[in-house]
Amino acid sequence: MLTAERRPLVLQCYSVPMYAPYALLPDDSRGRRYPEPPHPYRSDFQRDRDRVVHSRAFRRLENKTQVFTYRGSDHFRNRLTHTIEVTQIARTVASALRLNSDLVETLALVHDIGHPPFGHAGEQALDREMRTFADMFDHNLHALRIVEHFELRYPEFRGLNLTFEVREGIIKHSRDWSAAEFPELGEYLLDQRPPLEAQLIDLTDEIAYNVADLDDGVESGIISIETIREHLPSFERIWLEVEQRYPDALPKLKLSECLRRILDRMVSDLIHASGHRIRAARINRSREVRAYPERLIGLSAEGDAERRATKAFLHAYLYDSLVLSSDRARLENLISQLFRFWLAHPEELPQSYQDQLPDEKPERIVCDYSAGMTDNFIIREYERVAGEAFGIRHSVFGQDAASVTKS
Ligand code: MG
Repeated sequence: MLTAERRPLVLQCYSVPMYAPYALLPDDSRGRRYPEPPHPYRSDFQRDRDRVVHSRAFRRLENKTQVFTYRGSDHFRNRLTHTIEVTQIARTVASALRLNSDLVETLALVHDIGHPPFGHAGEQALDREMRTFADMFDHNLHALRIVEHFELRYPEFRGLNLTFEVREGIIKHSRDWSAAEFPELGEYLLDQRPPLEAQLIDLTDEIAYNVADLDDGVESGIISIETIREHLPSFERIWLEVEQRYPDALPKLKLSECLRRILDRMVSDLIHASGHRIRAARINRSREVRAYPERLIGLSAEGDAERRATKAFLHAYLYDSLVLSSDRARLENLISQLFRFWLAHPEELPQSYQDQLPDEKPERIVCDYSAGMTDNFIIREYERVAGEAFGIRHSVFGQDAASVTKS
């Protein structure tokens, strides 16, 4: 049997990959809120990754909407499979730029952990309710509350006790925060840029969901390959290349080949454009990344134009289609109704949330409770409270695309 003393040498250390000098090096970390002894063969960021994967909030991602609440096909992404896709892409980019891939992997795995049920509809509804109290809901701030307060797994501290850089990346990967407006975030160096590892999460997230949503959009029948070809010139160019190379392939294989090429093209663009910016700015240390006046990870001008065109197409023909926008209105209404119900009847909240009432604003407690739920759980709660079934299967789902496209 192996004891701590008799472990082979290989188990007593972890290999340190050859990071670039501008990467966030393990020794650059500001460490944990509650100091812990180092692990014999896992780095601090590898331990953070494992803490995220073993959290309850991470497991709930399986039952949260990415785009489709009614998953008419088991092949549609949910928020967990989306998270895995983002992680794969982010690791690829990190490896090509020689960034700290352990930190990147952790940030990618945790990046959507604060999303409420029903995706964008949930976030909109909770934010609208909170704004009536001159407050707000933001999924990144909620993610920070989850890893700092709500995950209870360790006898010695609340939360997951993640390293500073992971907590910083959770809130700063997609936006900057003003210290005057959010003084409670003051410890996160709000006047500085986050490390490159955090900067790349937002774009890898968007690259992943743009490609995935074209795929799931066609699978759903809401958009057709012809609609994409007609309205998205960058897709049409690649489609013609694929058609020339594989004229007899089935349309679904041509689509798959197109999406594979688009993904590869966008990821390659991100790697090359970011590498060029880092070199042009003569960045040699992660502290110079922090001090640089703008974010250095980004697409080229051409890649960014394609990204924006794809996003605009998806809004017009998928997210704002009659099918999804009418679903979204019903789901927002469901969340708002429950929010107001629990605010009026705090005795209906679980005991652990009622216990917080003396110390926390009731609307924040209700918001936290609602945001943590999965799609399934909040629908069950609605049905229990309202005494009626809430069907999420949309009546026009799967009809001919032409009849449901674009509201
Ligand atoms: Mg995401």
